Amino acid sequence: MRFDIITVFPHILDSYFGEAIIKRGVKSGKIEIFPHDLRDFTHDKHRTTDDTPYGGGAGMLMKIEPIAECLDEIIKKSPFERKEILILIMSAKGKLFDSEKAEKWAKKFSQIIIICGRYEGVDERVVKHLVDQEISIGNYVLSGGELGAGIVVDAVSRFVPGVLGNPASLAEESHNSQALEYPQYTRPPIFRGWKVPKILLSGDHQAIAEWRGKKIKNFHS
Ligand code: SAH
Repeated sequence: MRFDIITVFPHILDSYFGEAIIKRGVKSGKIEIFPHDLRDFTHDKHRTTDDTPYGGGAGMLMKIEPIAECLDEIIKKSPFERKEILILIMSAKGKLFDSEKAEKWAKKFSQIIIICGRYEGVDERVVKHLVDQEISIGNYVLSGGELGAGIVVDAVSRFVPGVLGNPASLAEESHNSQALEYPQYTRPPIFRGWKVPKILLSGDHQAIAEWRGKKIKNFHS
């Protein structure tokens, strides 16, 4: 899976992507992540990516031209067909991102391009004409789309075969199969008097599986 992130802060996620599972996924070639500096697609001295909103109002809006140019170039250089590419814009008013989307996208697409807004948001024509989906990562307003892009990259990557060391861990996880994960414990068996449930120390795998089954909180209950 290839990810392209369009942003005015191309290094803001370097530290997160440079560690742990994402780092290993990149190293093994299962995923690729390319940040694109939106300012490289401007043509004025000040490398302007924002402007005042028509009709007035507080703050600045991201302009459509640099975003469109950047998108055109990414698509032109892509080894994939357009139908294998998903173009997203991060937006507080978008559809909520969830595990189902992450899994579906990992299976269906070879490249995901994510546009990150800043300031008061983005010229609505970007949403209407240039992207496939407008995605929110939660019901709150962030200062920019980059953290959301990082979340999408992380959650989708986990469904890319070979990214997780142990694929079995994916099957049992919270939100996969519509269930929240059962509570888990590790050593020591007692800490400050707080005990690990006895059944987990019993070695009785069937009883443990039943206990876990009961502990899973189904979304529908
Ligand atoms: N004026 C906008 C908020 C802009 S916040 C509004 O009221 O909806 C600036 C940018 O941060 C947005 O363009 C978007 O890219 C990003 N952003 C903010 N909240 C987000 C969320 N919940 N999910 C995804 N992206 C978000």
